[in-house]
Amino acid sequence: MTQTIYDVLIIGGGPAGLTAGLYTSRAKLRTLMIERMILGGQVMTTTKVENYPGFPGGIDGPDLMMRFQDHCQEFGLEVTYGEVENLIDRGDHKALVVDGEEILARTVIITTGAEPRKLEVPGEQELVGRGVSYCATCDGAFFKEVPVAIVGGGDTAAEEAMFLARFASKVYLIHRRDQLRATKLLQERLFASEKIEVLWNREVVRVEGDARGVHALELREAGTDKKEALAVEGVFMAIGVVPKAHFLAEILDLTEEGYILTDAECRTSMPGVFAAGDVRKKILKQIATAVGDGAVAGIMAEKYLVEELGQ
Ligand code: NAP
Repeated sequence: MTQTIYDVLIIGGGPAGLTAGLYTSRAKLRTLMIERMILGGQVMTTTKVENYPGFPGGIDGPDLMMRFQDHCQEFGLEVTYGEVENLIDRGDHKALVVDGEEILARTVIITTGAEPRKLEVPGEQELVGRGVSYCATCDGAFFKEVPVAIVGGGDTAAEEAMFLARFASKVYLIHRRDQLRATKLLQERLFASEKIEVLWNREVVRVEGDARGVHALELREAGTDKKEALAVEGVFMAIGVVPKAHFLAEILDLTEEGYILTDAECRTSMPGVFAAGDVRKKILKQIATAVGDGAVAGIMAEKYLVEELGQ
C-alpha cells in the first residue's frame, strides 16, 4: 500500500499553526497538523487577551483558541498528536519522523512556538512543582493568602503579577534593572495594585526550600555583593521564552538563540519548508503577528505546490 503524502504538514497547534491550517484546508490542500500536547499554544495559559482585534472587553485565552480550532474544523483540518524528531528533505516531498514513524508531505510549516526560559539558579529545578512555576495562570490559585514572587520585567511578568495578586497575600515583582520592559498600560495597572511591590535591581541567586516547598529566595542587589533573603512560598519565572526548534539545529538555519531564520515570506533555508509565529526570528511576538505569519506561510505553501511542484 502506498503511503499518503499530505500537501501540507503543520508542526505545532498554536495561533500561527491553526491560522496556517485554516488557510491551507480552506484552499482544499490535504493538511495534517501534528501537536505535541494540547492545541492552542501559549495562549492557553493566558487568562485574558486584550489586544487581539475583534474582541472588545477581551477574551479568555482558551476561549479564543477554541474558536480557532472550531474554525479550522469547518474546513476539515486533520490533527494528530506526537513529537516530531526529524525532518528529511527528499526533493519532491519531506519525511517527518514522528515518534519513530515517518509521515510524508510536500510542504511543511513549522509553528512550534516558544517555551518559558529557565533562570538556572540553584534550587530552581529541584523545586519545580513544589513552589517554582513557569505559569501563574496554571498554578497561581494554589498560593492563597501567602507571599509569592514573580521574576521578570516584561509583559508576562506584569500580567502574571496582577493575576497572582487575586490570590496571594503579597506579590513581589523582582526585576534585574530599574525599568520595566512591559507596555505602559500594564505598568500603570501594576503600580496601582496595593498588593504588588516591585523590587528593583535585584537578581535571584538561589531558591530555598525543602520537601514541603519553597520558603525563601536569596536575592542579590545587581552589580554588588549585597545579599538578602525574601520569605515567599511560591516563585514564578517570567523571564522570556526560548524557541522550540532544537530538533532542527542541524537541518535549518537558526539564529544563535535558536530561532528559525526566514525571509519575509516565512521561507526557511530548506525549499518547501516554512516557519511562522514565535519560533521564527522576528521583532514582535503577539497573537496578531502569529496569525499574520500563519496566513503568509499557508499561502506560500500553496504557491510552492503550484509553482515548484506543479500540483
Ligand atoms: P520579554 O519581553 O523577553 O521579557 C523578559 C523579561 O525578563 C525582561 O524584563 C528581562 O529583563 C527579564 N530577564 C530575561 N532574562 C533574565 C534573567 N536571566 N534573569 C532575570 N531577568 C531576566 O518576555 P515576556 O514578558 O515573556 O514576553 C515575551 C513576548 O510576548 C514579548 O514580545 C511580549 O510583548 C509578548 N507578550 C505580550 C503580551 C500582551 O501583549 N498582552 C503578554 C505577554 C507577552 P530585561 O528587561 O533587563 O532584559
